[in-house]
Amino acid sequence: MTPRPQIVDTLVIGAGLAGLSTALHVGRAGGEALVVDAADHVGGKARSERHDGYTFDVTGHWLHLRDPGIRELVLSVCPPDHFLRVERLSRIWSHGAYTRYPFQANLYGLPPEVMHACLMGAIAADRALPDTIGAGDEPENFADWIRFYFGSGIAEHFMVPYNAKLWGVPADRITSRWCQRFVPRPRLSDIVAGAVGCNEAAMGYNATFLYPREGGIQTVAEALADAVGRDRILLEQRVVAVDPVARAVRFADGGILRYRNLVNTAALTGFVDLMGTAVPPGVRAAREQLWATEVVYLNVGVDGPLGQPDHWIYVPEPIWPMYRVGSFSNANPSMAPPGQSSLYVEMADRETPTEALLPRVYEGLVAMGLIDDPRRVRFAHVRRIPDAYVVYDFAYHDARERVHSWLETQQVRSIGRYGDWNYSSMEDALIDGRRTAGELEA
Ligand SMILES: Cc1cc2nc3c(=O)[nH]c(=O)nc-3n(C[C@H](O)[C@H](O)[C@H](O)COP(=O)(O)OP(=O)(O)OC[C@H]3O[C@@H](n4cnc5c(N)ncnc54)[C@H](O)[C@@H]3O)c2cc1C
Repeated sequence: MTPRPQIVDTLVIGAGLAGLSTALHVGRAGGEALVVDAADHVGGKARSERHDGYTFDVTGHWLHLRDPGIRELVLSVCPPDHFLRVERLSRIWSHGAYTRYPFQANLYGLPPEVMHACLMGAIAADRALPDTIGAGDEPENFADWIRFYFGSGIAEHFMVPYNAKLWGVPADRITSRWCQRFVPRPRLSDIVAGAVGCNEAAMGYNATFLYPREGGIQTVAEALADAVGRDRILLEQRVVAVDPVARAVRFADGGILRYRNLVNTAALTGFVDLMGTAVPPGVRAAREQLWATEVVYLNVGVDGPLGQPDHWIYVPEPIWPMYRVGSFSNANPSMAPPGQSSLYVEMADRETPTEALLPRVYEGLVAMGLIDDPRRVRFAHVRRIPDAYVVYDFAYHDARERVHSWLETQQVRSIGRYGDWNYSSMEDALIDGRRTAGELEA
C-alpha cells in the first residue's frame, strides 16, 4: 500500500463519485490531490456487492448523464462498450393495478372511482392556479405543493402516501424546494390524455439510463479510480478529527496529515462533528437541526424469471411495508446467474425488525405478479443505508446555509450528495467534483 504522506496539496475525504471526480479534475489541471476513504473500496454509495453469482448495487443506481462534459468523462474512462443504454420501464402498483410512471400523467388503468377523484382534483387545481406563479406563490409545505399543482385526488392516491413512505416523514413536514427538478409537472391536457390512455410521451428526468454490462455500478467508480491513479487513493483511512486552523486531519490510527486545501465528501453532519471545539455554538446548533432518514432494503435472489418486466415499481399504498421494488436483472440479465433473477426491495417500515416483515413482503411480490410463489425466493439479505435521504424540513435551508457559510470561512469545501447535504444524483456528484476542482485552481 502507498504510504501516507505527511503533507498534501489537496486532501479529499471520500472516494465516492464526488471525491474521485474532484481528484481526477485536480490531477488533469496539473494539481496534486490525495483521496482518503474509511472503507476498503472505492465508490461510496455507488458500490456493488456479489453473492452466489448475483451482483447487487446499493438499491437501484441507474446512471442518467445529461451534462455533455460528464458524459464524455464517464465514457472516456470506462472501457469501450461498457454500458447498456436502457429505456426506463417503471410503473406504479396501487389498487391492485399497474399504471405507468409518472402517476400524475398516466391514470389509465386505475379503478374508475380513483381515476375520477384524481381527474376532478386535477381540474379543480388547474382552475385555481393563478395566471402567473411568482417565486413566493408556491406553497412551502410539500403536501400543499402537491395539492396546489396536482389536486387532492393525485395527492391522496399517490404522492402524499408515497412520499411519506420514501422520506420516512409526512409530506407536510418537508418543504417543496427539493422537488422542482425531480417531480414531473404535466399540464392538465396531459393528465386528461393519460387518464384515457393516449399519453405516449415518456415523462420525467430519467426516461433512459446507462448501466454497466458487467459488474454493477461500482465498475464506474473503479474506472474513475484508475484514471485518478491508485497511488492517489488511500483506503481504510478513517478521518477522526479535523483541525481547520492547523489545516490537518487525524486518522483512526493516530497519524496526522496536513493539507493546503480540504475537500470533504463525507456526510456534512458527521464532518462538522469531527471539527470538535473549533465549531462555534451557533454552527453546532445549526448542525443539530440537520438530519437524514435511513433506508432499509433487501437484496433478493429469485429462482427463475420474474413475472413483470419493470426496472422499478413504486408501491404507494400504506398497507404494504415496501415503497419501491426494483430489479437489477430486468435491466441487465448479467446481474443474476443464468435463469435466475434479482430484486431490491426498499422498506418503508424502518422500525419493525425487517425479518418480521418478510412474509408480508413476499405476499406483496406475489400480489404484484413478480413471483408466483414465495418459495421462489432463494435469499433475502437485509441491508441498511444510514443517512440515505437528507430531510428537507423547515429548518433545513437556514441550518445548512449556516454550516456551509462557516465552513467557507475555514476554507473547507464540503460537496457531494452528503457533503453538501442534499438530494442529488451520481451525475451531480461528478459535477460537484469538477466544479470544486475548478475553484481550487482559480
Ligand atoms: C437509495 C439510493 C438510491 C439511489 N439511486 C440513484 C440512482 O438511481 N441514480 C443516481 O444517479 N443516483 C442515485 N443515488 C444517489 C447516489 O448514490 C449519490 O448521489 C452519489 O453516490 C453520492 O456520491 P458522493 O461521493 O457524494 O457520496 P458517497 O458515495 O456517500 O461517498 C462518501 C465517501 O466518504 C467516505 N467517508 C465517510 N466518512 C469518512 C471518514 N470519516 N473518513 C474517510 N472517509 C469517509 C465514505 O466511506 C464514502 O466512500 C441513490 C442514493 C440512494 C441513497
